Amino acid sequence: MKIPLITEIQRFSLQDGPGFRTTVFLKGCPLKCPWCHNPETQRPVQEYYYNQARCVSCGRCTAVCPTGGSTLVPGPGKDMVLQLDRSKCINCMRCVAVCLTEGRESVGQAMSLEDILQEVLSDEPFYRNSGGGVTISGGDPLMYPLFTLELAKRIKEHKVHVAIETSCFPKDWKTIQPLLEYVDLFIIDLKSMNPVKHEEVICWPLQPILDNFERLIESKANVRIHIPVVPGFNDSPQDFADYISYLEQFADRIKGVDILNYHVYGEGKYISLGRAKEYQYKGVEENPPEKVLPLARGLKLAGISSVTIGGLVGITTSREEHGRDAGMRCVA
Ligand code: SF4
Ligand code: SF4
Repeated sequence: MKIPLITEIQRFSLQDGPGFRTTVFLKGCPLKCPWCHNPETQRPVQEYYYNQARCVSCGRCTAVCPTGGSTLVPGPGKDMVLQLDRSKCINCMRCVAVCLTEGRESVGQAMSLEDILQEVLSDEPFYRNSGGGVTISGGDPLMYPLFTLELAKRIKEHKVHVAIETSCFPKDWKTIQPLLEYVDLFIIDLKSMNPVKHEEVICWPLQPILDNFERLIESKANVRIHIPVVPGFNDSPQDFADYISYLEQFADRIKGVDILNYHVYGEGKYISLGRAKEYQYKGVEENPPEKVLPLARGLKLAGISSVTIGGLVGITTSREEHGRDAGMRCVA
């Protein structure tokens, strides 16, 4: 069984499923979304953040670096500054171990399944009181199907609600099927309904994702859809119409749709990871919330009872939930 690195175990999350959640972020994803705001979860290997603002150029890291990946060089004034050559880095993390200022932080921690289990189960009383549970996210948990299955199974032994967040990318349904018994909620990211754009921009075909989604529905799994709305990628009237006409067929069988407006928070992470060149959305402005209202309204009119903007604690269009024609309102 391939064991993933963990980038974070986030407690008291309100956006990754119902109630208070503890979300386990696995490192590794086969898709290449150029707007990804969690780039630290994309690669399955350990990386390090360099936080320039915290670096005092003490040189401790250069002294232990075995490859010349970190050196001190004269800066613009009299001071020495740190120069990094990530192409020489072998991810040994010695620099992280000796840095006293958090100028370096490792990204991706090796943890045993037992340790993860122990950590997520320590929040059990909060799950019970809030109707929450554990969400396995990433990256994409289906990069590690056996590990995800085992983790879900072990959590379910404690009668805790399990959700997984995935793009549903696998090309073989058999990867997903065993999870049906142990996963209470599948949260599926639908990044575009346009197969050409999907393949060209995200570098993965759309059809297996739709096939898996439809098989989950046929299997009577609980499914919630996430739509990340990204400027210039899937925010045109045609994109919205395509989402609405496709999801309308499943309106009474999905738990709801969360519309997640693209935001710019990821840029700093790309810089700290030394991967600024990969970030293609530099300078791209976030859409105003009103931009996605036609999509939210269209999905509601198509019969989907729970539609939110911003996730389960965001703005909702649901009249039923609030007992009035609230239009869009913030319930956070
Ligand atoms: S050890 Fe930390 S503070 Fe010192 S030079 Fe390296 S990154 Fe900067
Ligand atoms: S992680 Fe990379 S930069 Fe840091 S000490 Fe090891 S080789 Fe050098």
